[in-house]
Amino acid sequence: MFRDQNSLAAIDVVDLRKEYPGTPSVVALKSASLKIHDNEFFTLLGPSGCGKTTLLRIIAGFEGLTEGELKLFGESIGALPPDKRPVNTVFQHYSLFPHMTVRENVAFGLRRKGISENEISSTVNEMLALVEMSQMADRKPTQLSGGQQQRVALARALAPKPKVLLLDEPLSALDLKLRQTMRLELKKIQRETGITFVFVTHDQEEALSMSDRIAVMSAGEIQQIGTPAEIYEMPTTRFAAEFVGDANIYEVATGTRKGEFTHYKIDNDIELIGPAHADLTENKQAALFIRPEKISLIEKPTDRSIPGVVREVIYLGDTTDYQITMGSGTSILVRAENHHDGAPIAEVGEKVFLDIDPRAIRILEA
Ligand code: ATP
Repeated sequence: MFRDQNSLAAIDVVDLRKEYPGTPSVVALKSASLKIHDNEFFTLLGPSGCGKTTLLRIIAGFEGLTEGELKLFGESIGALPPDKRPVNTVFQHYSLFPHMTVRENVAFGLRRKGISENEISSTVNEMLALVEMSQMADRKPTQLSGGQQQRVALARALAPKPKVLLLDEPLSALDLKLRQTMRLELKKIQRETGITFVFVTHDQEEALSMSDRIAVMSAGEIQQIGTPAEIYEMPTTRFAAEFVGDANIYEVATGTRKGEFTHYKIDNDIELIGPAHADLTENKQAALFIRPEKISLIEKPTDRSIPGVVREVIYLGDTTDYQITMGSGTSILVRAENHHDGAPIAEVGEKVFLDIDPRAIRILEA
C-alpha cells in the first residue's frame, strides 16, 4: 500500500499533554504525537493506566486537552463539542436503549439529524446487513447475546457515517471464541466502509490481528508506532519488546565486533552472536532480545550452538515452551511447534543445544 505522505491525516495529534487536576494531579498524557491516516485501522495498545482511553476521549471531545493540538482532516477541532465532530464512539459496554428494538436503536442517531424516514430506513437496513443482524431487527436488546448486542452498537455508531469511528475495548466483554470471530468481522467492516477506525485495547493479539498500524503506549507516552510485523519483529524499546509477545531479554555491554556481527556476552561464559548495532560504541550497555520461537533445539552441537539443560516443559496445545538453563545458570525460553502426537522434543533434565540465528537477535538501547 503506497500512501501520499503529503495527504491530510485523518487525525493529527501534536505534542498532546493531558493533566487531570487534583492533589496530586495526574499526568495521563505527557507529550503524545501521532498521525492516523484516512481509511486506516489504527490501534492504541498499552497496559491499564497508560493513557489510551484518555487519548480516545480527547479525540471524541469528551475530555479537553491541557496542551497541544488536535486536527481532524487538517482542521483544528480542540474546541468543537463532541456532537459537532465527524466522529462516533463504540464503548466496551454497548449501552443500547433497552426499550427500543434493534432497528430503533440503529435509527436513533439518524433521527436526531432530521433525515427523512425513507433514508433512515434504507440506511438502517444497510447497517444491519453489514453487521449481519437483519434477521433480528425487531428484537429488543435483552433478547440478544453479548456479541449480537455489540454488533447492534457497531451498526448504531456507523449509521450516521462518521469519518472516524473510535472503539474503546469493544470486545473485552465477550468470550474468547466470539472475540476471535468479531476481530475478523471488525476488520472486514472497516475495509468495506472505508471509515478510519481508532481501536483501544490492552490485548496484543487483538492489536496484531486487526491493525494496519499500532501505537504502543506506556505511562502517558507513545513508545513506538508501526505495522504489527514491525512492532513484533523490530521493537525499538524494551517496553514494546516485552509488552507485545514473549521475549528473552538480557542486559549486555556491546562486545567484540567481527565483520557484520558482534559477539555479545550475556553471562560469564555465554556469548550470543547478533547483528552489530551501529549506534552503540564498544562497551556501552544495551539490551539483547530474542523471541522464544526463533530459537531451535538441536541434538548435536555446531560452532555456534549453546549447551543447556531443560528445566521445565510446558505443553500449550499448538506449541510447547521449554525453560532452559545455559552455562552458569542464565535461563532462556524456547518455544517449539508441536508435531504429530504432540510429544515434547526434550524432557526435563535432558541436555540440549540451542541454535540461534544471529539475524533473529535484536539489540535495543538500554
Ligand atoms: P485502562 O485500560 O485501565 O482503561 P487506560 O490506558 O485507558 O487504562 P486512562 O483511562 O487513559 O488509561 O488513564 C490514564 C491515567 O489517568 C490513569 O492514571 C488514570 O488513573 C488517570 N485518569 C483517568 N481519568 C481520570 C480522571 N477523570 N480524573 C483523574 N485521573 C484520571
